[in-house]
Amino acid sequence: MDITFKTPIKNLTRVGATTARRLKYLGLETAGDLLYWFPFRYEDYRRIVPIGQLVEGDSITVCGRLELIANKRSFRRRKMITEALVTDDTGSVRVIWWNQPFIAKNLKPGEMIFLSGKVKADMLGPQFVSPAYEKMTKTETAHTARLVPIYSITSGLTQKQLRFLITQIIDLTKRVEDWVPSNILEKYDLSPLGDALRGIHFPVDEHDLKQSTERLKFDELFLLQLKAELSRLARTKERAPKVAFKEKEIKEFVGELPFTLTKTQKVAAWEILKDLESGMPMNRLLSGDVGSGKTIVAAMAAYNTVLNGYQAVIMAPTEILARQHYDTLCKLLRDKIKIGLLTRSQAENFQFPTLPTGRQVSNFQSIPNSQFSKMKKRMLANIEKGLINIVVGTHALLSEKVEFKDVGLIVVDEQHRFGVEQRKAIKDKTADISAHYLSMTATPIPRSLALMIYGDLDVSVINELPPGRKPIISRLVEPRNREKAYEFIRGQVKQGRQVFVICPLIEQLATSKEQLANNIEIINYPLSASVGTEKKSVMSEYEKLAKKIFPDLRVGFLHGKLPARGGSAFGGKPSKESVMNDFKSGAIDILVSTSVIEVGVDIPNASVMMIEGADRFGLAQLHQFRGRVGRSVHQSYCLLFTDSDSVGVTDRLKFFETHRDGFKLAEKDLANRGPGEVYGTEQSGFANLRLAKLTDVEAIKKAREAAKEIAGEVKNYPQIMAKFAIWKKMTHLE
Ligand code: ADP
Ligand code: MG
Repeated sequence: MDITFKTPIKNLTRVGATTARRLKYLGLETAGDLLYWFPFRYEDYRRIVPIGQLVEGDSITVCGRLELIANKRSFRRRKMITEALVTDDTGSVRVIWWNQPFIAKNLKPGEMIFLSGKVKADMLGPQFVSPAYEKMTKTETAHTARLVPIYSITSGLTQKQLRFLITQIIDLTKRVEDWVPSNILEKYDLSPLGDALRGIHFPVDEHDLKQSTERLKFDELFLLQLKAELSRLARTKERAPKVAFKEKEIKEFVGELPFTLTKTQKVAAWEILKDLESGMPMNRLLSGDVGSGKTIVAAMAAYNTVLNGYQAVIMAPTEILARQHYDTLCKLLRDKIKIGLLTRSQAENFQFPTLPTGRQVSNFQSIPNSQFSKMKKRMLANIEKGLINIVVGTHALLSEKVEFKDVGLIVVDEQHRFGVEQRKAIKDKTADISAHYLSMTATPIPRSLALMIYGDLDVSVINELPPGRKPIISRLVEPRNREKAYEFIRGQVKQGRQVFVICPLIEQLATSKEQLANNIEIINYPLSASVGTEKKSVMSEYEKLAKKIFPDLRVGFLHGKLPARGGSAFGGKPSKESVMNDFKSGAIDILVSTSVIEVGVDIPNASVMMIEGADRFGLAQLHQFRGRVGRSVHQSYCLLFTDSDSVGVTDRLKFFETHRDGFKLAEKDLANRGPGEVYGTEQSGFANLRLAKLTDVEAIKKAREAAKEIAGEVKNYPQIMAKFAIWKKMTHLE
């Protein structure tokens, strides 16, 4: 049969309907899919050992003559055992296979065979149990006596089956057209694509494997980098509002702050103000640890934009956070310019006569819905007319109803929380004017990684905290000390402080819907990374704390399923807003919450962050939680609890206890969990990386260089353009 990339797998030898279905579950439907289903590791079975020298526990290969082979029933009569004896000049070894009676048909006494596997031993000497086997032929081996590829499989498939399929299609590699021209291959010391695809499945040796892997990594990284370079090039050709630096007003503004800016805050602000002046659209990421003071830098940029006659838009991932930014900006700027808040459930601005002003937090309980819609309408009209200078909100701002007026700057806080779709919508909203774009993140990111993930972004880093912050004391609390921890919390509340309690999830998380539906167990497949056991729910934790542990204290709860506004925590139905109001005003002592509280929330009076099921969270995320306390003069504490006693978990949490640098924590996280989880998976298509890791600094550099070289004249490389187009479609980046 003539096999092409498009040949359906079911046309291959020994693929029935069942196997085809199982392969499809892995996303494998064509020969081409199989070719790109790379092994995730290799067994080294190259060492062929004389049988006389077998040592128990070694993973090795022997080569010998099959003396006898026969099936029999195991003595419980349930299972079939195939027994064999293999000899070479130095000795003999017994072999058994369980439940594979067909082997006795495949192999005939007298044949020379390879056996690869782990050596066992008993009273009678060495033995192999269910080793990989292969007849010695003139052609290459696939399963034994080499670097043997090990693939991700689902239950019902075997390594041997998959390798057999790959051997059927491996000659496709002779026909693949390389989309990278030979001058580039040469310059960057890369193997031809066909060689690399063969080498990744059946490497001749380590060198071959390394070369092959490098080439295929290059392909993945190069396309990402090319995309970044192309969008950077496009950006340099776009025009954006020239936003002049209003030195006098900005100096005045900074002078009025109750603190002095840190050095890195100044540098970041300067970099941003420079970009705004350039006439080219800014695309900058402001990265700074929790509490490093990014908001004020964004406020300076927004204020400066407004002073130039443009509107500024600030988007936050949650209503709570939008409200908080709005409050902050009002405090700083309300006498100078007009600021509006617009989310699904909030529409507010100090110029509205219907609302009392000067409150920290508004409470919409008393506002009937009809009046709220009126306020919202009015807000929309004011935004459209340009009467609102800084618009603060959530993704509600992306709805069609919102029309901005001369947007000069868009700020997106905690940008990794916004999906690709939303970021595209932000761009579309301002497509005609190319507004400047500033995104902010509190998950610190190594520079090489930032280039990789956000290739077309410039990055500013605030790498210091404002002076005078008391370091937060973090402790992993042993289960037997739980009571003591509760007593400690009670003491803090008695001193007037407030406490957060974080629980992992509201409901139990299924591994994957599809998996449950199909009742399929996935082996060695990345999805199975963490299969959840019972998770403490916010509600049961709340009940416990409110009724049993702290009946004398005021305990509240918060989770994502609460309505956004209205109600009250005490009497009536609570909403996210009412709960946050009550916590801010001090009406709640202890707030039990899911991770909705994770980003940005500022409650200076809170001094304890208690985290249940701490092993469920990444270090960067734990660090975010911890950043919710320690925001004032009060000594603050972060108490971690876990039911897990695995060494890995304890190590990780101990590391967290002693490290305050968000950067170090993010790096450690990266080593443990990979960038997809740390920085949000949908980011820029790097979830699609199969081989390359974002820590492959050298490979990234190489790809970046090549992309830079080619981007300007990509039109001269039709194959690259074609490949790029397919890749973009596959990764849904456009
Ligand atoms: P984040 O970077 O996590 O968004 P915020 O912008 O919320 O941090 O700032 C955290 C707190 O630090 C705020 O209360 C803010 O007023 C305060 N702050 C910001 N800059 C400084 C500074 N230079 N000196 C002292 N306090 C500052
Ligand atoms: Mg923030």
